[in-house]
Amino acid sequence: MKASCERCSTKLGLSDRAFICSYECTFCPECSDALHFCCPNCQGNLVIRPERRTSPTEVPRSGFKAKLEAILS
Ligand SMILES: [Zn+2]
Ligand SMILES: [Zn+2]
Repeated sequence: MKASCERCSTKLGLSDRAFICSYECTFCPECSDALHFCCPNCQGNLVIRPERRTSPTEVPRSGFKAKLEAILS
């Protein structure tokens, strides 16, 4: 996951709307619109990036905690 637009360097946080191609070239919504949702690097389609609200490390930890609580209860 890239943290900024490749065209204008706008910061793109994990919860910000961003567009990516299949090679994960990342663009902000304004640039994606200006590029007609076509990646200038690979000519691929730009699609909306799936939102990620939690960091990858938080998911297994919460799963582990739930498992531990199930054992202890
Ligand atoms: Zn941009
Ligand atoms: Zn691309």
